[in-house]
Amino acid sequence: MVETQNYAMINQKPYKLIEKIKETPDVYTFRFEAADNSRLNFDPGMFVMLTYIDKETKEKITRAFSIASAPNSDTVDFYIHMVHGRLTSKLENAEVGDIYYMSGPYGQFKFSSNEDKKVLFIAGGTGIAPFMSMLNKIKNDSLGTDIVLLYSVRYSNEIIKKDELEKLEKEINLKTVVTVTRPQENDNWKGEKGHICQEMVEKCVGDITGRTAYICGPLQFVKAMKDMLVSMNVPLDRIKADVWG
Ligand SMILES: Cc1cc2nc3c(=O)[nH]c(=O)nc-3n(C[C@H](O)[C@H](O)[C@H](O)COP(=O)(O)OP(=O)(O)OC[C@H]3O[C@@H](n4cnc5c(N)ncnc54)[C@H](O)[C@@H]3O)c2cc1C
Repeated sequence: MVETQNYAMINQKPYKLIEKIKETPDVYTFRFEAADNSRLNFDPGMFVMLTYIDKETKEKITRAFSIASAPNSDTVDFYIHMVHGRLTSKLENAEVGDIYYMSGPYGQFKFSSNEDKKVLFIAGGTGIAPFMSMLNKIKNDSLGTDIVLLYSVRYSNEIIKKDELEKLEKEINLKTVVTVTRPQENDNWKGEKGHICQEMVEKCVGDITGRTAYICGPLQFVKAMKDMLVSMNVPLDRIKADVWG
C-alpha cells in the first residue's frame, strides 16, 4: 500500500480534466493536461498521486494512479476502474474542465530499454496502463524490443484499448494474448480462457530464457504471477512487479 500522506503534498500541481472516455463497462480513461501547459517528465511504468479537493469542505482525497500515456505526450492519461470507493466516486461525477491536483512521478517500476531487449509483459485488468505507456515509448523511439503481452481480464468486454493493441501489433514487435477468466456462453470469445498459468506462458512465449518479466495488477494477481515465474526458474532479477494493493 502506498503511503498517500507522504506523497500527497510534494510538487502538487493543478491539472485540468480535458476528456473522460468510457473504455469498458467499469473503466474510464481520464485525460488531464497541466493548467500551466507544462509536460510531466516521467519514465513509462511510473505513477502519480492524484488529489481531489472538495470546493466547499476542502476535503482532500489522494490516490495513486499509473500513467497510461507515453512520455512526451501533451496529456497525462489514466485508466481508472470505477470501484465506487472514495476517490472513484468523485471521478464518476467528474466533468471536463474540473481541476484535480497531481504530484509525482513516483515509483521504481520502469522500463529498462537498454537492458531489456526481450520482455514478457503480464497485465491484470487496469494493470495494462503502465504497459500502454511502455508500448508507445517502444514505438515512438523505434526500440525494436521483442514483446509478448499476456493480458488477463474477467470478461471479454473488459479489454481496455483493444483496437490500439491490435494496431500496435502491426507497428512494433508485439504479440498480444488476451485471456478471459470468466467467459460467458454468448460472448463469442475465441481466444484464451482462464487464469494465466505456466502452460499458457509456455504456449504463448515459448522459451522464456533471456526474457525479463514485468507484472502489473492487483496484489493477488501479481503474487500469483511472480510465484508462477519463480517456479519456472525465471531469476528474481528478471521479474519486475508493480502492486496495486
Ligand atoms: C502504484 C499504484 C498505482 C495504481 N494505479 C491504478 C490505475 O492505473 N487504475 C486504477 O483503477 N487503480 C489504480 N490504483 C488503485 C487506486 O490507487 C485506488 O486504490 C483505487 O482507485 C480505489 O480508490 P478509491 O478511493 O475509489 O477507493 P477506496 O475508498 O480507497 O476503497 C478501496 C476499496 O474498498 C472498496 N470500498 C470503498 N468503500 C466501500 C464501502 N462503503 N463498502 C464496501 N467496499 C467499499 C472500494 O470498492 C475499493 O475496492 C493504483 C494503486 C497503486 C498503489
